[in-house]
Amino acid sequence: MTEDRSALRVESIAVSAGRPAASPDGPLNLPITPASALHAGGDSGYARDGQPPWAALEATIGALEGGHAVVFSSGMAAAQAALTLIGPAARIVAPAVAYMDVRRSLMRQDETGPRSVTFVDVADTQAVLDACEQADALWLESPTNPLLEVADLPRLCTAARERGIFCVVDNTMATPLLQQPLLLGADLVVHSATKAMGGHSDLLLGAVAASAAGSVARLHEARELYGATPGALEVFLCLRGLRTLPLRMQCAQSNAMALAERLVGHRDALEVRYPGLRSHPDHQRAASTMSGFGTLLTVRVAGGAARADAVVDAVQLIAHATSFGAVESTLERRARYPAERDVPDDLLRISVGCEHVDDLWDDLTRALDATRGASGRSCMNGPTSTCCTS
Ligand SMILES: *Cc1c(COP(=O)(O)O)cnc(C)c1O
Repeated sequence: MTEDRSALRVESIAVSAGRPAASPDGPLNLPITPASALHAGGDSGYARDGQPPWAALEATIGALEGGHAVVFSSGMAAAQAALTLIGPAARIVAPAVAYMDVRRSLMRQDETGPRSVTFVDVADTQAVLDACEQADALWLESPTNPLLEVADLPRLCTAARERGIFCVVDNTMATPLLQQPLLLGADLVVHSATKAMGGHSDLLLGAVAASAAGSVARLHEARELYGATPGALEVFLCLRGLRTLPLRMQCAQSNAMALAERLVGHRDALEVRYPGLRSHPDHQRAASTMSGFGTLLTVRVAGGAARADAVVDAVQLIAHATSFGAVESTLERRARYPAERDVPDDLLRISVGCEHVDDLWDDLTRALDATRGASGRSCMNGPTSTCCTS
């Protein structure tokens, strides 16, 4: 499972990496293996310290990122493991807008010390570089969740490397199919594999990838010492999900682009954000630094928070749910979380999946039509919902 796959293209890596060696009548896939005690004499010896199904998933994620991956029980566990590689009193530069629980975790570190965290607008390259003058570590996320700002990763990763600043990139939203930060000079790449990698809304899992052997060893140690180990079923499902990541990405991205373009012309869409739209402030940067524009878009709907809440209750095909990157399209009003303080009240984040784009469009426009005038209370659920105005 450590064979060199560098000659293969991503679609082939996703399908073929991490397979067991061929043996007559042996399965093509590693089975689900519930295990704690392992027979002595191997490299691991105990299930918390590593096991073959984890290694298969790690080989696949590592090959896609161009490094070596270590898997964890969730994306947050992966982020915490990445933080253990940053010095105890480090000055960290981080995005002002980022996945809310990562940001909350960084804010907590800043409050409690001795680490300090400076929050910057990651789309403002000069502001990030200026903040890096006084920094030991740079934490990046791009595109950012949920505002879809795009950072200049090639420039920022190079600058961090030149200045000896430890650079971590949360690559959850883009996935290694759209950008490979390790190849740009980042020290670590963090993933919530819960999202697009798993891709079916049925597991929690995380991963950190690194190039340097020393970093990989410390990530293994972090998993051994803190015990954020992935479950057997989750590992199996995630590897299965990864097999179709390129295919799902292709479909969902083209659906997202089409929905974004159609929404721009819709009377109830106050502002549509998708990195693939020319109107997106970072469109040129996304076009030149990423090989696709991703599967998320946001729309601010006319009528404020109440209307937005009515829309999420009125959709039927699209699920009202958090998370993203799955075959199922989902949407939510992001400002419903108190932690999303920078997000407009009326902003819906839509994670576009692999349904037919016309069905998604019909669902969304029906929900917008059914809720026109809703500005007071939310609608009732269901197809016959009547909306209340106040
Ligand atoms: C969801 C998410 C995480 C956290 O991952 P979990 O698997 O939910 O723990 C971290 N970063 C980003 C960008 C995310 O979207």
